[in-house]
Amino acid sequence: MFELIKLGDNTYCYTMPTNVGIYRRADNRVYIIDTGVNERSGKRILSVIEEHGWTVEAVILTHAHTDHAGGCRYITETTGCKAYATAAERIFVENPDLEPAMVYGAFPCRDFRGKFMNTPACPVRDICELQLPMGMELIHLPGHFADMIGVRTPDDVYFMADSVIAAETLTKCPMSYIFDIESQYRTLDMLKKYQGKLCVPSHAAPTKDIACLAEKNREALDKVNSRLRDLLRTPETLEGLTASLTCEWELADTYGQYVMTLSGVRGHLTYLRHRGEVDYHFEGHQMLWELSDKA
Ligand SMILES: [Zn+2]
Repeated sequence: MFELIKLGDNTYCYTMPTNVGIYRRADNRVYIIDTGVNERSGKRILSVIEEHGWTVEAVILTHAHTDHAGGCRYITETTGCKAYATAAERIFVENPDLEPAMVYGAFPCRDFRGKFMNTPACPVRDICELQLPMGMELIHLPGHFADMIGVRTPDDVYFMADSVIAAETLTKCPMSYIFDIESQYRTLDMLKKYQGKLCVPSHAAPTKDIACLAEKNREALDKVNSRLRDLLRTPETLEGLTASLTCEWELADTYGQYVMTLSGVRGHLTYLRHRGEVDYHFEGHQMLWELSDKA
């Protein structure tokens, strides 16, 4: 942890709880890919950059989640550089109430504004306005959040954001918050074409075997869908499903975890509903989910 690893002639990964990518141009100006969770992360990143005599050209945010965008304000204000993200993601960094509101479904209650739902507001430009260095490419990675991207550096290193989660994390609990399950499946399938290339997930070690990790993430999605199908042999409310999975995976009974699990279940129900596998009806003004007749 907190180590600068050289991954290519000019590409580095600064290992933090959220890995940060650094690409150095010939003039020693660098592009930073993601910024860690808060101001302290921003300070750590800048001190490594200063140590090497580099200066910051721009920040590229893969997406708006606090553990990726939390250090952005500190870095941009300290260095005067600009930050860039896709149109859908920059809205969340500029309006930090929106991310917890999106997960919670209304103005976020104070109890839900912990370390990971508290991005310092920061102006972010549209990534289309950034002139990328020759050979750098952006990769669309839909599913995890509004419009997440990955970055290929000219050294052929691929920073893949939160498109895959570490296998150890999935072993503890197969379900994580994913905005759009159907798109996530497509992204996981697409990752197979990067097999053999050096890929850096944000929360796992750099790997040339991204297909294996993508497959494990796919299996985790399948597992949640299959568990929900089992539970819905008997009609159940959203809250009932959430309670069953919380118990089964020994998740914490906290406000934040509960809201995340509830939203996670909602995401999977959308996926199953669109596939015609689950249905719902109302009983005593309660909405009950159940397996569809066609399933
Ligand atoms: Zn994320």
